[in-house]
Amino acid sequence: MANLKLSHIYKVYENGHKAVNDFSIDIEDQEFIVFVGPSGCGKSTTLRMIAGLESITAGDLFIGDTLVNDMEPKDRDVAMVFQSYALYPHMTVYENMAFGLRNRKMPEEEIKERVMKAAKMLDIEDYLDRQPKAMSGGQRQRVALGRALVRDPKVFLLDEPLSNLDAKLRAQMRSEITALHKSLKTTFIYVTHDQVEAMTMGTRIVVMKLGYVQQIDTPMNLYNMPYNKFVAGFIGSPQMNFFDVTLKREKDKVKISFAQGDSVTIPYENVCKVHENYLQGDRKVILGVRPEHLTLNKDGDGLKMIITNIERLGNETIVYGKLGDHLGEFSLKDEGNNITVKIVDRDDIKVDDVVYANFNPDKIHFFDSETEVTLMNKIPNYNSVHCKVDGDKLALLGRKVALPEMFSRVLGSEKDVTLAIPPHAIVPGKDFSLKVAKVEKVDKQNLAYLDNGDSYLFALVSDDVKKGDDYSFALANEKLDLYKGEELLLKAVGDQESLLGTFSKTEVKENNDRVLHFFYDISDYHLEAAAENGYKINSIDGDNCYKNTYRYGIDRDKIRIVDEGGLKCDVVDCLDYGNARFAKVRHGDNELLINVDKDFNASTVNIAFDSSDVSVYSTLIDMMLC
Ligand code: ADP
Repeated sequence: MANLKLSHIYKVYENGHKAVNDFSIDIEDQEFIVFVGPSGCGKSTTLRMIAGLESITAGDLFIGDTLVNDMEPKDRDVAMVFQSYALYPHMTVYENMAFGLRNRKMPEEEIKERVMKAAKMLDIEDYLDRQPKAMSGGQRQRVALGRALVRDPKVFLLDEPLSNLDAKLRAQMRSEITALHKSLKTTFIYVTHDQVEAMTMGTRIVVMKLGYVQQIDTPMNLYNMPYNKFVAGFIGSPQMNFFDVTLKREKDKVKISFAQGDSVTIPYENVCKVHENYLQGDRKVILGVRPEHLTLNKDGDGLKMIITNIERLGNETIVYGKLGDHLGEFSLKDEGNNITVKIVDRDDIKVDDVVYANFNPDKIHFFDSETEVTLMNKIPNYNSVHCKVDGDKLALLGRKVALPEMFSRVLGSEKDVTLAIPPHAIVPGKDFSLKVAKVEKVDKQNLAYLDNGDSYLFALVSDDVKKGDDYSFALANEKLDLYKGEELLLKAVGDQESLLGTFSKTEVKENNDRVLHFFYDISDYHLEAAAENGYKINSIDGDNCYKNTYRYGIDRDKIRIVDEGGLKCDVVDCLDYGNARFAKVRHGDNELLINVDKDFNASTVNIAFDSSDVSVYSTLIDMMLC
């Protein structure tokens, strides 16, 4: 039994191809994790890195509490099952299953016990004397599973184990592997390009594309709340419909206008998490509706479509069509107007009929047309709040508060501004008070819908906040973006600072041993790095590491002001946000913000931090090294 931790894992192949980027996941003991995505997205590479068959370029891999990056595959206590079965053709089933154990010099008696037990579980007891060539694909895959099973590993790694089997056998083996996982109570990691396998087997699924993780979630969350258009399209069959639309808010309704002319009106409540910039009627967005969430009628209500094909499958019917009432010029590439509807069978429709499609507004999705990221995040990224500047006060949310000095710097004579307020910037305090309209649990956090007249202000609140409460709060001003219309006047202050520097080593003689010490060199600040990180950087970049420039990332909270030593900086500015104050300091080309208190007025300052708080990034390729 084992949990696994993959922390910022990267794989760059020798030819420079970056196959896996910044892959992080905590896998709990006994989970069934599926890596899914189209061919070439990096799933097998990740699995092979876990198995130890492929080296890890950067990042840490833990099995249990042990860092296994450099551990031999045989010592990792994992067993891998391959798509190709990888059986020894000249050996019997029994010998194939016993082979690994014999290599480990296990007593024959124990081997026999283990093989017989596994053979029984997999129902291959009658084939133990056969050679693989005399067996069917399904039976061979069972032998391959058996060979993993007898090793009693902490973690099972399965690489597309069913893709050589026919559809019926695949379905059967799917349930068998799921049952096996239940009875073995071990951790399974399973790679497939088949979304049905992923959805039916995984406790959690990692969806990948082009080497990047797109979303890690439970099957139902992937289906109901896909993070982007790619995940939305990949999960579900037939694929989700996507339409180019615009959205216009009209009081408590929102009008969805389709490119071909139709429009549909839905309650605002259904899209209250969509940022208001998308609700002005001028911005193209992508509407996603699953075929099973559409219905058809003939009475002229809904989206007009012409039926181009009907697939009657008995239990369900898939209706394909084009929006509008004519087909236009035929092109296979023209997907924009395509619509697919999944319904139970009905005999009153046929190809070329003009019918009307309706959808349930509770089941729709919206994506940004450029980034393709959802516009309906479980926790919205920002609240937009309009404010009026009144002398040295800022009027918003029904109150007037002191105008932060940093805001007045950028405002000029501007009186109307908009604040983008992330939910985490709404903090306990007494400046504002709004009624709680609703509280929703989102991934162990409480999202409160605060009633702000014609819209909601979304805030993260503690467990004791309930619907109907008056919620008192303040704003963390430094975490807000300030806009004039769509023009950004002042950007929120991030939590991390970056410094550029180099990396060096010195060799010291200690008790007759030569010991290497490594340093992060930021100008004249030599910060000793943990030896393991030094070796890590050296193993990734080779001896070039002593010539390269690195980006050192550090959380601002971890930067200290010291009396002497550290990095001596000039203070070039003081940024006052009211509730928070920062000094902008500079040394050479490095410029950063540090936290300071109200009385700070020095012209130079020495700053220091611990090397254990520093993250090191390659400046040559976008990669976190440690
Ligand atoms: P998947 O399992 O998702 O199909 P892989 O992990 O096998 O994808 O491959 C990810 C990417 O890495 C692909 O673009 C593939 O061509 C590339 N790749 C795989 N192995 C190597 C290798 N040994 N050298 C260079 N590139 C590789």
